[in-house]
Amino acid sequence: MNRHIAVCSSLFAALLLSACLSTEGDGAAALSGAAGATQFGDGSNEARLSAATDAVRAVTVSDEELQAVTLQVVAEMDNTNQVAPDANKYAKRLNKLTRNLGNEDGLELNFKVYITDEINAFATADGSIRVYSGLMDLLNDNELRSVIGHEIGHVKLGHSLAKTRTAYLASAAAKVAVSEGGLGAEALAELGEKLINAQFSQAQESASDAYGVEFMRRHKYKLPAAESAMRKLAKLEGSSSGSKLFSSHPGAQERADEIHALITAKKK
Ligand SMILES: [Zn+2]
Repeated sequence: MNRHIAVCSSLFAALLLSACLSTEGDGAAALSGAAGATQFGDGSNEARLSAATDAVRAVTVSDEELQAVTLQVVAEMDNTNQVAPDANKYAKRLNKLTRNLGNEDGLELNFKVYITDEINAFATADGSIRVYSGLMDLLNDNELRSVIGHEIGHVKLGHSLAKTRTAYLASAAAKVAVSEGGLGAEALAELGEKLINAQFSQAQESASDAYGVEFMRRHKYKLPAAESAMRKLAKLEGSSSGSKLFSSHPGAQERADEIHALITAKKK
């Protein structure tokens, strides 16, 4: 079995802690990253200048600019991935599961299925949530709901926007976008890759897991599904068919245990 398991990006990367460049903050992470680059770089003036420029941009790029970029990136990703048409069985299933979530928790959300064997799902800062058919094959309806709730958490808690800021600033695109007033398809695709592959921090994943459990509670969905979804992913994490992402970013088992504690805790 050779299918690619990329879990997480936004969401499930959850499983995969770390590599995430982005952390809680906004500009601060990118700023310290830039400083690090200067420290460990080749010491050339050019490298220093570039790092300094990134650092300045980190604190000046506005949320509005990031949201505008996000819309372009999502449009490009929808364009290049195989989006399930309305009549497709996956689209029908996701539509049924998300019908009541158009305005969830004050967010304007939209949902689409990407037809691919990859096991993944992600959310972007504008409220676009994309679920891969490979993940839908793995999970039952309530488990999928818990993943969706987790993704919504990343949007609601500002993680998606923070990650976009980091990815945007790290991309060559950002440096020309301002002066040229827009991004080309290639730059958007590159940024999309970064958004999908960059991981959230462990703290962000835990916070989104907790949000996901609250989401399940709020809608009166079956809480144990949140744990069983994570156990299924944990199983993949431990198998040889898991991608290198899994081996370098363990943690699904621990997260499943945390979720277990959350769902068995007494209601306040
Ligand atoms: Zn996540």
